[in-house]
Amino acid sequence: MAGRKVLIVYAHQEPKSLNGSLKRVAVEELSKQGCSVTVSDLYAMHFEPRATRNDIVGCLHNSEEFNYGVETWEAYKRGGLSNDLIEEQKKFPLYWFSMPAIMKGWMDRVLVQGFAHEFPNCYDSGLLKDKLALFSFTTGGSREMYAKGGISGDIRYVLWPMQHGIMHFCGVKVLAPHICFAPEYVSEEKRKEMLIAWAHRLKTLWKEEPINCSPEWYFK
Ligand code: FAD
Ligand code: ZN
Repeated sequence: MAGRKVLIVYAHQEPKSLNGSLKRVAVEELSKQGCSVTVSDLYAMHFEPRATRNDIVGCLHNSEEFNYGVETWEAYKRGGLSNDLIEEQKKFPLYWFSMPAIMKGWMDRVLVQGFAHEFPNCYDSGLLKDKLALFSFTTGGSREMYAKGGISGDIRYVLWPMQHGIMHFCGVKVLAPHICFAPEYVSEEKRKEMLIAWAHRLKTLWKEEPINCSPEWYFK
């Protein structure tokens, strides 16, 4: 859809990886649709994942005792922080049932109070409520391992903190995740199919309804 702004937050070190290919497919397809696509390639940017007092420009609100959440909130209000967050997609390998540290650092530092949420403006009234998020990631474990009753548990348990705790908390609506299970352990042919399926999904992405992001979606 023309005019849509898409931010791809990409966290993989290797352009030749499957995640690298998934990212390329998304950039091509979404650009072809007329979206304006921006990629934050976190490793290439040497993105700083640590949330430190360097994130606050100028004087601290309380220089006696540093509180990152309060300081970034205050700094945001006086225009001291980055506000380049737009619609987003996330591409990354699953690390320890979560996202890579560099991407978690992006969340920690970008989604500050005042910009993304400001109690009681959270969940459905979070400040980013006109935006959509989609988590695209790969796993080491197979689909069977991540099935309900499988040894790793339902993959949806893993998504709870990312989709509900972070995105929904900030008001962002969540599209169904896109998961490529165990690309390292399937055939070349299967991997090609994964990329085709992703390209295919992107063609009708903007017609999709967000998931019902409530505890039932994850744990029922
Ligand atoms: P790659 O190994 O880069 O890709 C697989 C293959 O696809 C490669 O041979 C590549 O050449 C090939 N390929 C690339 N492009 C194409 C193309 N266009 N067509 C065909 N083939 C192509 N996994 C879990 O399940 N749970 C965990 O908790 C977990 N924790 C981890 C923690 C750490 C610190 C690390 C390092 C890994 C962890 N893993 C875990 C595994 C990790 O999720 C997988 O290794 C990762 O998802 C694989 O994706 P990749 O893009 O790196 O694959
Ligand atoms: Zn939710």
